[in-house]
Amino acid sequence: MVTEPHMPSGMVLDKFKEECAVFGVFGHPEAANLTYLGLYALQHRGQESSGIVSCDGLRHFTERGMGYVSDIFTEERLARLEGNMAVGHNRYSTHGVSQLKNTQPIAIEYSRGPLALAHNGNLINADLLRGRLEEDGSIFQSTMDSEVIIHLIAKSRAKRLQDQVTEALLQIQGAYSLTILGGNELIAVRDIHGFRPLAMGRLGSAVVFASETCAFDLIDATFIREVEPGEMIVVNDEGINSYFPFGQATHKSQCVFEYIYFARPDSTIFGANVHSVRKQFGRQLAKELPVEADVVVPVPDSGVVAALGYAEGSGIPFDKGIIRNHYVGRTFIEPAQSIRHFGVKIKLNPVKEVIRGKSVVVVDDSIVRGTTSRKIIKMIRDAGAREIHMRISSPPTTHSCFYGIDTPTRSELIASTYTIKQICEYIEADTLAFLSVERMMSVMGQRRDDFCKACFDGSYPVKTAPTEAQLALLDKPPV
Ligand code: AMP
Repeated sequence: MVTEPHMPSGMVLDKFKEECAVFGVFGHPEAANLTYLGLYALQHRGQESSGIVSCDGLRHFTERGMGYVSDIFTEERLARLEGNMAVGHNRYSTHGVSQLKNTQPIAIEYSRGPLALAHNGNLINADLLRGRLEEDGSIFQSTMDSEVIIHLIAKSRAKRLQDQVTEALLQIQGAYSLTILGGNELIAVRDIHGFRPLAMGRLGSAVVFASETCAFDLIDATFIREVEPGEMIVVNDEGINSYFPFGQATHKSQCVFEYIYFARPDSTIFGANVHSVRKQFGRQLAKELPVEADVVVPVPDSGVVAALGYAEGSGIPFDKGIIRNHYVGRTFIEPAQSIRHFGVKIKLNPVKEVIRGKSVVVVDDSIVRGTTSRKIIKMIRDAGAREIHMRISSPPTTHSCFYGIDTPTRSELIASTYTIKQICEYIEADTLAFLSVERMMSVMGQRRDDFCKACFDGSYPVKTAPTEAQLALLDKPPV
């Protein structure tokens, strides 16, 4: 039987919706401008809000807002972000509380000076810890789970920021890739499972961190390496120092969905280029349920790379049979069902000349609720397709993610209750096939055990409530 993480229901925390991007730079006179560009390249990881906190060695400067990076940061606002170090964040929330108070980086003044934190991931035990902290008198300003980390850092009696951060994170369970800015140092840290990506680069003598390497390309930084699962990298005037304060990771649980959908194809994450892996998924998919067809058509943009792989693997020609209007937001982020239905129509339009009279293989990366596929298939049928074979370059999404990918509750996941045959009937395709877990993992080769695929098989790597020892840390007397 599958056990899901224990989720107390009392507190209204904004959880399971933390698809985000983080960025950090140390030692560059244009720190804020670089962060702006980094966030611009990482916009796909979050479009709801964005923020930058910079530091001149003494004071922090904060600019945050709702909307796209390019709309928020005017020249004037960027000019206010002084100093040669900065952290930045893009946030993406679907149906959570869309408010300015929930934007990151979180910026505070505590007893040891200014502190800012940007978080990508999702904390499993945040509501429990928050409850304990609130009982103790802590006052929270947002509904973000990330704010718990800030409170735990502030409560620590350790002297160095890195030790305060370690003490805080020892109490935290779940997924986090963090960039943290103190008064004179930058810390990048990734949880011991390595759920979410985090990369380190160089730009001259400056050090940069980003969720994905595509951010480095835009600022001409050189990708050095990934921050390892469980690693903390501290950058200050003394240099760059690496620590493994939580012990060495014994087992990695990197998110396979980053390869399937979330990360940009031009990024390298978890040791491999996203485009190459995604294309391999498509090649493998071609073997799953072979079909004779005239044309392979991707659902843009999410299905494009897998469709290229599918066409290569099957020998069926690839063509752009659906055009996407790029000036409409992702359909998935529209909050209400009725709007989501409408969203597909305003976003995608078929090229009838490619589709009419043809047997079409339609390739997309995933089926979540099934509403998108159903609309697309109707659209292609209306455009005159003779047969429609839907192919999905990931396995059926049967379980919610608790580690930072926004998936709805299980009851809303079509594959949690429907068989593949029933899904095929619902979306009204002639045939439907998903990439099997085995074939998907075969693409990873020797790295096949280094991934979390809980959304496909329910094997959650972190599922427990905090231990007594962790809770006891909260009550630790001052040292
Ligand atoms: P649905 O109508 O719920 O089945 O939506 C499936 C579509 O949403 C697919 O085309 C995916 O590309 C896209 N998608 C899947 N997961 C996510 C996610 N976590 N955030 C945004 N879009 C997603």
